[in-house]
Amino acid sequence: MCGAEDTKVVDSRLAGAGDAVRRRRRCEECSYRFTTFERVDEVPLVVIKSDGTRQPFDRAKVTAGIRAACKGRGVSTGDVEAIGDEVEDLLRAEATRSETGAVSSAAIGLAVLERLRVLDDVAYLRFASVYKNFDAASDFHRELELLDKLSAESSSG
Ligand SMILES: [Zn+2]
Repeated sequence: MCGAEDTKVVDSRLAGAGDAVRRRRRCEECSYRFTTFERVDEVPLVVIKSDGTRQPFDRAKVTAGIRAACKGRGVSTGDVEAIGDEVEDLLRAEATRSETGAVSSAAIGLAVLERLRVLDDVAYLRFASVYKNFDAASDFHRELELLDKLSAESSSG
């Protein structure tokens, strides 16, 4: 092997319990052939929806929801991504502790809401309205009162 950076994958096949890939590679410079094993080092995060179906955690979908809630609120892309990071980390930790090895879709919504509450009141209410499928003005009112209460608690503490 000459140390050139470019190698070409000649052949790929599943290895181990199907969670690894064995790749036959060839150096583009000197034609040296070698084998690598690649393993997924991150367990997929599984979400259990309210109807019981399971699906992989879709981070892009979550951040899109946060972005929509924050529209016109002067919240930076960095802030939205930071919430996405925090929520994903939190859910991974939760899934690890959970008997099912998964998290509920409700846990995602709550984790996002907790962070939006601190960040921006309007974004919080918008996200809550979508997440909780509010269909009555009284729900918004109740949520506002809750927000006031929580804000009062955090400012007095
Ligand atoms: Zn080489």
